[in-house]
Amino acid sequence: MQELDVDVLCLAEGPDLLYLTGYAAMPLERLTMLILPRDDDAMLVVPRLEVARVVEYEDLFTVRPWVETEDPIQIVADRVRASKTIAIGDTTWARFVLALQAELPDARFLAASCVTTPLRIVKDDAEVNALQRAAHAVDEIAHDMRSRPFAGRTERDIQREIVDRILAAGHERANFAIVASGPNAASPHHESGERVVQGGDVVLCDFGGTMDGYCSDITRMYVVGTPEPEVVDAYDALVIAQAAAVDAATVGTTCADVDGIARQVLGEARLGDWFIHRTGHGIGLEAHEDPYIVAGNELRLEPGHAFSVEPGVYLPGRFGLRLEDIVVATATGPRSLNAASRDLVSVH
Ligand code: ZN
Ligand code: ZN
Ligand code: ZN
Repeated sequence: MQELDVDVLCLAEGPDLLYLTGYAAMPLERLTMLILPRDDDAMLVVPRLEVARVVEYEDLFTVRPWVETEDPIQIVADRVRASKTIAIGDTTWARFVLALQAELPDARFLAASCVTTPLRIVKDDAEVNALQRAAHAVDEIAHDMRSRPFAGRTERDIQREIVDRILAAGHERANFAIVASGPNAASPHHESGERVVQGGDVVLCDFGGTMDGYCSDITRMYVVGTPEPEVVDAYDALVIAQAAAVDAATVGTTCADVDGIARQVLGEARLGDWFIHRTGHGIGLEAHEDPYIVAGNELRLEPGHAFSVEPGVYLPGRFGLRLEDIVVATATGPRSLNAASRDLVSVH
């Protein structure tokens, strides 16, 4: 905050608040806000009815409950009135930001991510262990799905099964489960629906949840019966592209270069035009966070950066393929947290 000349950090409900206080606030019209001044004690302004959910760390912050007849914006504004530069949580609702700006017309507001991202982007051992536990859990699901029937079931039915398995595996929350069959998989974020999986279909399963606060995210491919030769060729290239990008994710390499390796391999296989998204995203308390593995991101990987490597190939009207693992950059090289088989497995 000193480097950035930030006088106070104001964090509403969201992952930054969770990271700094351990408190997972609910997204409510009632304002919750951590006020963390550079040179003073921190205070958590919280609706009185939510106080019971807050674990107070008295050496870190005091709790300022507000009752229904108080105006929390006024409480925050009074507390930060002397601040020239306020870093406000990136996902704070506009209604709160606008009300604060109206109260504090002379203050300069910046996005709190300029302070919090450099902290959150580097995962410590406990965080990597949490990501590893979550990755193990979805690895098992990906493995178990290899012996499950696919043909004759709707995408939605398979999706429900995966969601149930995510919860049964110990996640507190299932964040998403994409089950995209046949031509539907050509849309990377296909909304699973009533399409019935048929013989010959390639089925993309991309799913994850939150376990002890940290996210899992994996994509594996299944094929009902025998795949067409074109699918096999494209998938072989994808496996090579994904592995090459993982291997390239060494400390000191830029995110852009990791993306470039996957793109180069798929380009050489004449599939480059069908790889229509970035290679990956950071992962931690959020399913998608910094660092983004994308062209133009010249950030160099550091030990503790955790991110997905998930190139894909999408042929409109025909099929789609993606392969995704979570990887952590370490001093001794890239460490893949996912170990589930990457074969294009034949299912019934
Ligand atoms: Zn995605
Ligand atoms: Zn995914
Ligand atoms: Zn992902």
